[in-house]
Order: sequence, then C-alpha cells, then structure tokens
Amino acid sequence: MFIQPIASHFIDGAYVEDDNGTPIEVIYPATGTIIGRVYSATPAIIERAVESAKRAQIGWAKLSGTERGRVLRRAADIIRERNYDLSVLETYDTGKPLSETLCADATSAADALEYFGGLAGSLTGEYIPLADGNWAYTRREALGLCVGIGAWNYPMQIACWKGAPALACGNAMIFKPSETTPMCALKVAEILVEAGLPPGLYNVVQGAGDVGAALVSDPRVDKVSLTGSVPTGRKVYASAAAGMKHVTMELGGKSPLIIFDDADLDNCVSGAILANFYSTGQICSNGTRVFVQSGIKDAFLKRLCERLDLAVIGDPQDEATNFGPMASERQLELVLGFIKKGKEEGARLVTGGNRISGEGYYIQPTVFADVSDNMTIAREEIFGPVMSVLDFEDEAEVIIRANATEFGLAAGIFTADISRAHRVIDELQSGTCFINSYNDAPVEVPFGGVKMSGVGRENSKEAISHYSQLKSVFVRMNDMESPF
Ligand code: NAD
Repeated sequence: MFIQPIASHFIDGAYVEDDNGTPIEVIYPATGTIIGRVYSATPAIIERAVESAKRAQIGWAKLSGTERGRVLRRAADIIRERNYDLSVLETYDTGKPLSETLCADATSAADALEYFGGLAGSLTGEYIPLADGNWAYTRREALGLCVGIGAWNYPMQIACWKGAPALACGNAMIFKPSETTPMCALKVAEILVEAGLPPGLYNVVQGAGDVGAALVSDPRVDKVSLTGSVPTGRKVYASAAAGMKHVTMELGGKSPLIIFDDADLDNCVSGAILANFYSTGQICSNGTRVFVQSGIKDAFLKRLCERLDLAVIGDPQDEATNFGPMASERQLELVLGFIKKGKEEGARLVTGGNRISGEGYYIQPTVFADVSDNMTIAREEIFGPVMSVLDFEDEAEVIIRANATEFGLAAGIFTADISRAHRVIDELQSGTCFINSYNDAPVEVPFGGVKMSGVGRENSKEAISHYSQLKSVFVRMNDMESPF
C-alpha cells in the first residue's frame, strides 16, 4: 500500500513539489510500513507560501462575510460527501480506527467550516453614541496572515478548527501539519479550492519544528495558532511575542475526572473509557487522573475491566475495530516508558501494561490503581492509553488535589447530586469542563485551556475574537476645540 499525495505542499491553489527538502516518510502505524513520502519545505517553498498568502488576503478581506462564508459551507458539503474516503486517509495517517475517523474527524472538520461559514456574514462592529452628538464605531477587521501548526492526533480537524475561523474573518492561512501526519491537510486545501476559495488563501507546507519556527518568526505573519505540547508552546509563544503576534495555544493536559460514590456506575465507566482510550488515549483533553471516591472504587474497577475486555483491537481499517495502534513508534516507546515508571514507583497494574506483539505500534489499554499524586504517571502527560486511578474520600480534598497541577485543559465530574456538580466545577481550574460526560467537543462550544494548557479558545463565537481585531473610529459632529 502506497498513498503518495500528488505533491508535498499546496501553495497558491495548486500542489507544489520541491525535493530539495528533507524527506519525511509517512508510516502506517498499524503495520510500521512506509506508505508515502513528502519533503520538508525549503526556504523557497516557505517564501512562495508567504508571498501568495499575503497577496491573496487583501482581496479576500474585501469580500462580504456572506461571500466568504459561502465558500466555507460549500467545502463543508464536499467534505461530508467524501467522508468515507477522507476517513480512510485519516486512518492511514494516524492509525486511528475507521470506526472513529468516520464520525469524529472529517465530520468535525466539516462542522467547523459550516459553523464559521455561517457566522462569517454576521461579523459586525458596534455603534457607540457619545456626548454632544459625537459618536464612534468599531470595525472588526482581519489580522492578515495566520499560521496554523498542528499536532498528529486530529490532523483534519485541527486543519479546519484553525482554518475555518481564520478564513471566515478574512485572513489567509498557512498550515503546517505535524510531520507525523502530513497527508490530511493537503486534502483540506484541495477541497477548499474546489469549493471556490481563491488561490493562496489556504496554503499547506510540510516540515518539522524548523519549518514551524521559520513561519512563526517571519515578520509578515500576524498570528500563530499552535496545537502541540507545552514545551513547543513555550518556544512558539516566545518567538511570536518577539514580533508582537497574536497567538492561540492549544497545549497539553493532565486533566482530572472525578467520580463520586453516587454516580451511575455504567455512565462513569463509559466516561472514564472515553476519557482515556478513545483515539488510543492520544487526546489532549483526556481525563487521565481518575479520582474515584472510596465507596464506588471496587465496583468501578471491576466494571471497567469487564468493559475493557470488550475492546476490539486490530486492523484500524476494519470497521469492527475500536482500539488502534499508537500513532508512531516514538509515541509507543514514550508510553511504555511511563508504564515502566508507574510500576517502579509502586502503582498497582490492574490491566494491560504491555506492547502487543506483531507488526504495528499496538499497546494494551492500561489501568493503574492506587496511584498517588506524586507519581510520574499522575503528574506528566502520557498521551497514550494509560489510566491512573486515584482514591479520594471527600469533596474538599479532591478539589485541592485535582487543581494541584500546572495544566488546566479539561475536567470532568460524575455525580447524581446536581448542586455538588456545579459547586465542584466552579472550583476546578480548567478551561473545558464536563458534567456526567467527557470529551464532547461540539463546534458551538469554546474549547481551550487555562494555566500551562493554553491561551485563547478554539470553536464557538469566541474564536472570532482570536482571528480578528477591532478598529475604533471616533467621529466628531461639531467643531474641534483646542488649547492654542
Ligand atoms: P509537538 O509539540 O511535538 O508538535 C506540535 C507541532 O509543533 C508539530 O507540527 C511540530 O512540528 C511543531 N513544532 C515543534 N517545534 C516547533 C517550533 N520550535 N516552532 C514551531 N513549531 C514547532 O506535539 P505533538 O507531539 O505533535 O502532539 C502532542 C501534543 O499536542 C500533546 O502535548 C497534546 O496534549 C497536544 N495537543 C493539544 C491539543 C489541544 O487542543 N489542546 C490537541 C491535540 C494535541
């Protein structure tokens, strides 16, 4: 199987190749075999991408929002029509099971294009009446050239969660996918052009951190939106700050999921499974510190193990599979390292814990119990299918422990007590919270973190403020007064 994209980059409305760049092999995580090759962007490619985006953005911003939105909504329709083929591609890119990609990736990308396409025509400023008949108005204007940099876990979704609001507001975007998953964003670019997007407005360039860094530091770039780890976020934020650029940072997490004694057992087990094993645990908002109140702990662990036995691990392209491999060998090794640390530091391995023999980067769904707050597996983001179960006794205690982390992306609570649910959520230092649920991410709802987990929000009307800026215009209706 070889799925070679037409070329590595998509610039100014067309595929572009430059094989002077460093080769990047595309590896199918289910087999470990090379299925494609792209080349990292050379300085000449970056220059073409920036130059065409800057040129195209001027005319795009002059269209009405309704005209811009029409293009995005058309692209959403095309993505939905091709959901099956795009999902197969996403599965080759990431190794995520087709049963997931069919409902969570291209569809989520289409939702973003449809939602921001719908909002584009409603972006307006304000009329502000002032004293003496004077007044002011505001104009919501595009930022200019936005750079999007993606992680490897949701390549098509990330390409659109950044691209859709940027384009809706009249910006151009250069998107750099993760070097681990270079293929899906090219399809997004191709479909946008097919939907009528003028050339240059959504360019895709390939490469690793060096290409990302070159884009972020380019003085012609006005905004940077990164989805990635905290260490990368620190570097990108610092570089963007030097040029006083706007930023959105969607970074890592070690989110708490709190299960009280009175929670419905099957619902909280389902929540914990979704919060730890969907996408083989490679989700930034995962609730990987599962705090379980002592009264429900034994029943929770028993039912959890019964349910994990039902996981269908295998060929991700088989729709019956619901648990796939890790996205890369590197990620597999990292996760195995965390499991080893968990054992060494005294956590009790309840289930899993091993690599699955055979080809591909498969690892068992893994649960540790009796985890204490200071263990490495309770403090550091693992980004793999490893759940840490921590015991707790009362509400006040669990709030303090849940907040005792540098991260603040997400948090969840399962309880039958509605007052307690809101009381606890009020106290949690997290940007994206769930009550009797976990990891829902509809486009209408702001998504993002606090503390080290990020800056800004994606999705929802809130994203508009991160891809546009206000111009205030004061209008005097009477004569000027001046001291001289
Ligand atoms: P990463 O930080 O290694 O890389 C992210 C992206 O940044 C890649 O495209 C990479 O090439 C690029 N990059 C690396 N160094 C750079 C630099 N100096 N300048 C510019 N770009 C640079 O992250 P990853 O391993 O690809 O993804 C996993 C991480 O992403 C996890 O920490 C996860 O929590 C996080 N993530 C966050 C969200 C969110 O929305 N909050 C979503 C998905 C993943």
